[in-house]
Amino acid sequence: GPDAATAAGAGGHPVPAGVPGRRLTGFQTTGDLHLGNLLGAIRPILADQHRAETRVFLADLHALTVEHDPARLRARTVQQATILLAAGLDPVRTALFVQSQVPEHTELHYLLECATGYGEAHRMIQFKEKSAAQQQVRLSLLTYPVLMTADILLHDTDEVPVGEDQSQHLELTRAVATRFNAHYGPTFVVPRAVHPTVATRVMSLADPTAKMSKSGPTPAGTIFLLDPPDVVRRKISRAVTDSGSDVVYDPQHRPGVANLLEILAACTGGQPTALAGDFPSYGRLKAAVADAVVETLHPIQLRYAELTADPDGVRQVLADGAARVRPPAAATVHRARTAIGLLT
Ligand code: ATP
Repeated sequence: GPDAATAAGAGGHPVPAGVPGRRLTGFQTTGDLHLGNLLGAIRPILADQHRAETRVFLADLHALTVEHDPARLRARTVQQATILLAAGLDPVRTALFVQSQVPEHTELHYLLECATGYGEAHRMIQFKEKSAAQQQVRLSLLTYPVLMTADILLHDTDEVPVGEDQSQHLELTRAVATRFNAHYGPTFVVPRAVHPTVATRVMSLADPTAKMSKSGPTPAGTIFLLDPPDVVRRKISRAVTDSGSDVVYDPQHRPGVANLLEILAACTGGQPTALAGDFPSYGRLKAAVADAVVETLHPIQLRYAELTADPDGVRQVLADGAARVRPPAAATVHRARTAIGLLT
């Protein structure tokens, strides 16, 4: 298609048919990683990491767009990296790095700000939502989707796994890349959105109409990956359901129960509809979900404890990851600098 032509013209890598292209996934270091991140993002990366090239980064620059605590941010960046490794991310296959340690992200961000309209940035729904929740809205919150655009274009990304909440941002990325290429000559690979084959969207246990999130208003509804078993069991036993009693899979009318069945299915490999028949009551379902989640988290938590014994080892993995991706990132920035008219 036209995107592949652009990729080749931009000095990107031609992608043979049937082979997945290069993917990029970022985790904002705004909070602790949770079950939604595991089932919706980390597991799909692990499932494909020996087939597809994925780059994974800790988005600490994005975390600066909202109120933050400096010491906690730094600690959390290392913690998230450690959890990803504990979950099975293979840093040899998958470059794992910290966004701010690849300063080309910031440089490309500025160049792309000069190729994005104020009105375009202002139209982003997530800006409206997130700014409403802030006392002081940082300017960087407005330009956040431009930084995301820089993240994606910097790495000549072919495929971006996106949830619904990010699809407007990916459309902006595609528009900016296409426009830049048309104006200044072929420079960027125009990425496409991909939706994971098993799209698990984990909802909050406290409000099953909202997605489980790290920085959301209801931490009681979020199962963090480092939650000890008793905390996991307590949160699941208190999960909001409905006034019914028979267990049926009906996401529209019984979102709480459906969410529990989907979590169980994702953890055990079953199907939500079939699993529903196994439980005579909500209480029995919740007990099974708690067992399955505790069992899923157990090996990750064990490995996490081992890895925290060697924090320098994790920092070294991150330094290696940055060192690996910086030369090709610098090449992309060089193309953009030249195209836009800077003296290179
Ligand atoms: P925040 O609460 O700060 O917005 P988040 O927890 O929603 O953060 P991100 O860092 O924005 O997570 O996203 C990291 C990855 O995890 C993305 O690929 C995103 O699609 C995925 N993800 C986040 N929340 C969920 C969820 N509830 N269910 C499935 N996937 C999720």
